[in-house]
Amino acid sequence: MNRKELVKTTRYLNDKNINRGSSGNLSYRINNGFVITPSSVPNNKLNIKDCVQMDFKGVFKNKLKPSTEWRIHRDIYRKRKDIFAIIHTHPTFSTAIACMNIKIPSFHYMIAMAGGDDIKCAKYATFGTEQLSKNVIKALENRNACLMANHGLIVGAKNLKIATKLTEEVENISKQYLQILKSGKKPVILSKKEMVKNIRKIKDYNYGKI
Ligand SMILES: [Zn+2]
Repeated sequence: MNRKELVKTTRYLNDKNINRGSSGNLSYRINNGFVITPSSVPNNKLNIKDCVQMDFKGVFKNKLKPSTEWRIHRDIYRKRKDIFAIIHTHPTFSTAIACMNIKIPSFHYMIAMAGGDDIKCAKYATFGTEQLSKNVIKALENRNACLMANHGLIVGAKNLKIATKLTEEVENISKQYLQILKSGKKPVILSKKEMVKNIRKIKDYNYGKI
């Protein structure tokens, strides 16, 4: 992973309408730190030199400031040694569910892509705070994606490609789940046993293995 890929991924998610304007932020792990997108630069105007290198103490050297949500990236990298890339966005459908403060149950086998039998919603805390980091890390336990109450979506993966794929998939799952909620009917929920099979199969295919 490099800055070029970070910029390319940011622009891609912007074109896909997942990451609009200057909302959302992406990063990848490096030795002793990470490289993150800057604060207040429109996604479609982002350049390689705008990306900010930070260490785990939060120290950076760049003309531009890092994203206001850098702390959450830093704290996830510190806690989760299996995560090398993070994509945080405010996509419409995932955010809509996050605003209900509910988790997404295993109504579809693709939930397994996030690593478990549901996609949890981290409790609300003000953006950029230590408390929000704590809440997200908890909701991400044994998972690679979670919703963030009244805020959006966050995904952590072994690289930016898988993180992008998972971000798009969770947004798709959220769209489907909202349709079900709108219908007023309850979906059939896949059993834990069945979801264990799905998780294993997805890992075997190296589809969602993160
Ligand atoms: Zn955000």
